[in-house]
Amino acid sequence: MHLILLGPPGAGKGTQAIALAERWQIPHISTGDILRQAIEDKTDLGIQARSHLEAGELVPDNVMMSLMRKRFAQPDMAKGWILDGFPRTLPQAKALDELLAIFQQPSPKVIYFEVTTGLLINRLMKMGRQDDTVDVIRRRIDIYQQETQPLIEYYEQRLCLTTINGNLPVAEVAHALSGLGEKETSGQASFIPSETEFDSLLAEAPLLVVDFTATWCGPCKLVAPLIDRLAGEYGTASAQTASAQGANAQQPVNIFKLDLDNNQAVAKRYGVKGIPTVMFFKGGELQETLVGVQTYEAYSEVVSKLSS
Ligand code: AMP
Repeated sequence: MHLILLGPPGAGKGTQAIALAERWQIPHISTGDILRQAIEDKTDLGIQARSHLEAGELVPDNVMMSLMRKRFAQPDMAKGWILDGFPRTLPQAKALDELLAIFQQPSPKVIYFEVTTGLLINRLMKMGRQDDTVDVIRRRIDIYQQETQPLIEYYEQRLCLTTINGNLPVAEVAHALSGLGEKETSGQASFIPSETEFDSLLAEAPLLVVDFTATWCGPCKLVAPLIDRLAGEYGTASAQTASAQGANAQQPVNIFKLDLDNNQAVAKRYGVKGIPTVMFFKGGELQETLVGVQTYEAYSEVVSKLSS
């Protein structure tokens, strides 16, 4: 699992990060904790960072990037990670993309904790951290809005952002996150591994059904069994059996799932706005799109209509 937790100070990212890191046995990288420790230990990093933390300002991007470069070079990062409090600016997000490419790490999922400002101030006051006076808290929230909020759009455009309601109690947020990291079960309809594979399926099959899905998407889990059933009923294998039997055999239908996180280019090409989305292609052209969780009959009706 490769995860970025994005959200304002006091959103509850740290609490959830600790639990998830424990569950998946992967490092939890809290840049705030690393910097506070460095200040306490009076290291070079601590000396550079101290005045920024005390003022509620951000530590300069170049300092943060050199810190993260060193962290990503550690062997424990190979099995996955949770970034909590990083990236916090657009330059950091872009530099992180480069770092991930250098270390051959996959694109992360991003969870955005959406919380109302009033609640944040209350929570931060209660936490009573040494570097938090009311003025510093307000400054940190202002800076979050100016510097960090643009990252929501940055990751939204890459279709890897999931928003959760951070106003809810800790246990409910944990519940909302509990579907993350579950193993994919592909059932009867298998996953299209790449854009190239998608293109060749599009060219080859008279009819292609694609279920755009992701491991973190709860409602997608309701659609998956319906698509599996569809594959069982209309899929290439059963259609071939039908044609071997002769009379009035239907055209074979290719029915697949497509993991949004691994195939953003395909989703972008067809303007997928949210998932679950199921698209029906005929002769290489998109014919119909069903968004959200539909009944089995709704999916099978489109297949019958297009294959007749
Ligand atoms: P946090 O505990 O995540 O709220 O971080 C505490 C403080 O550490 C922030 O107010 C910043 O001064 C500094 N800090 C943590 N992460 C970053 C970052 N990614 N970029 C710049 N400054 C950071």
